[in-house]
Amino acid sequence: MAKDNKSQWDGFSLKPRREMPEGLWVKCPGCEKTIYKKKAVENRDVCPECDYHFRIGAADRIRYLADEGSFEQIHTEMVSADPLDFHFRGTTYKDRAAAAETRAAGKEAILVGKAFIKGRGVSLAVMDFNYLGGSMGAVVGEKLCAAIDKAIEEKLPLIVVSASGGARMHEGVVSLGQMAKTSAALARLDDAGGLFISILTDPTTGGVTASFAMLGDVIIAEPKALIGFAGPRTILETIKVELPEGFQRAEFLLEHGFVDMIVHRKDMRSEIARLIDYTC
Ligand SMILES: [Zn+2]
Repeated sequence: MAKDNKSQWDGFSLKPRREMPEGLWVKCPGCEKTIYKKKAVENRDVCPECDYHFRIGAADRIRYLADEGSFEQIHTEMVSADPLDFHFRGTTYKDRAAAAETRAAGKEAILVGKAFIKGRGVSLAVMDFNYLGGSMGAVVGEKLCAAIDKAIEEKLPLIVVSASGGARMHEGVVSLGQMAKTSAALARLDDAGGLFISILTDPTTGGVTASFAMLGDVIIAEPKALIGFAGPRTILETIKVELPEGFQRAEFLLEHGFVDMIVHRKDMRSEIARLIDYTC
């Protein structure tokens, strides 16, 4: 594990602690300066001093990416059937899902639909870390496949923004099945000659990294995003190997060829439009 772990910017955590806190002023976890929150929000939830990218929910993500008012969401009412009747430490999956819904932008950990980005029509899927850590269960898989099908049917570029702690363990093997299902759907898109731009945000881990997130024709990451399968602590405990400094950060993955480019949040719209024009 990286030794210099005092800053959240460098540390490893899947807890949603890096969203913008309440209040007029916030302490930036990147540069540790106290910044005027309004300035950071106007800067798309990025620290104006050091470019630290705060975590954002799906609603803000869509607002920053899509042309104003252009997102037409589909399958908004689809919810999990709780296939295992899951109980854990006095709570149930249903209770946790109901609580998550109050924090998230929708009824599940992904929002899908059609949108325009700088006038280009796209099939857009955006994960929401605020809903059970952006975990992938049957509904996330199904909605993502619907977005892929729409891209195929209407010959639209597919844009997927990932933010996920991985597969949703409350659904056991059903959640793991989504890895194969989404990968197979992307193979159909590829056969149809479609374009898939995958955007990895902080954090993108577990079953999402091990399936659709890394299958993009172009893979873009936000600066310093945590991207990996198992976390450094799990790896250390399992194989007793300390990981190199910066391992699982976007910059390390770019250097080692797992990511094609790192794009600042403010440039994401322009970069997607440029890639669509270049490839379509
Ligand atoms: Zn900062």
